[in-house]
Amino acid sequence: MGLTGIFDSHAHYDSADFDSDREALFGSLSASGVCGIINAGCTLEASRIGLSYAERFDYIYAAVGIHPGELDTLTPDYLTKLRALAAHPKCVAIGEIGLDYHWEPYDKEKQQQVFSAQMALAAELKLPVIIHARDAIADTLAILRAFPQVTGVVHCFSGSAETAKELLQMGYAIGFTGAVTFPNAKKARRAAAAVPLSRLLLETDAPYMAPVPYRGKRCDSSMIAASAAVLAELHGCTPQELVDAARENTCRLFQIKEC
Ligand SMILES: [Zn+2]
Repeated sequence: MGLTGIFDSHAHYDSADFDSDREALFGSLSASGVCGIINAGCTLEASRIGLSYAERFDYIYAAVGIHPGELDTLTPDYLTKLRALAAHPKCVAIGEIGLDYHWEPYDKEKQQQVFSAQMALAAELKLPVIIHARDAIADTLAILRAFPQVTGVVHCFSGSAETAKELLQMGYAIGFTGAVTFPNAKKARRAAAAVPLSRLLLETDAPYMAPVPYRGKRCDSSMIAASAAVLAELHGCTPQELVDAARENTCRLFQIKEC
């Protein structure tokens, strides 16, 4: 499609799915129009690895955080370690953090405690957050409200247009993955149509969430064009206009020099 200036605001290139060709991919993505990537950390180790990519590739940035599904990796000093990682000049956010009540068994209380602690860290460091919320939107909103000085993005949004509006009012941006292209994703598309172009971020969540027509395949940042096409149609603009708006929003939110 020949899009340029694609910023993938959320990917997991530390995933073992990329072990066979990660370097080649990092070298070739710019030829697909990708000008920026934020690697989102799910564990301390993943956060550290994301920063190592950011050190080697100008166009890669990293977020550091503990995902609610990874709490069994926690050591008592995780916050100290996270704070040290967040001091890296290419760390642009705390994330991905949040709540996930989808996969049993989960410990709601511990999830909320770790999420709140990382929100407090973001407030302390004046960094934006990247939020994961699955089957837990009410509790997520309650914790976000407890930190009105923090802003960020709610990633891979699949909630209602009403919830999206509530988040927008609280100052959050909304991120959309390839999931908006899935035939059954009517609710997410309604929400995407309700999010103004000035508040919408594009993301892959690679290696997951490959958009139609790549669904089921390993996702990488070049596939964003398929999501951009669907979102552009919802907003009555061209895919390039959508990509440009999403890139500007990403750079503004994460204080990245326009690329
Ligand atoms: Zn993710």
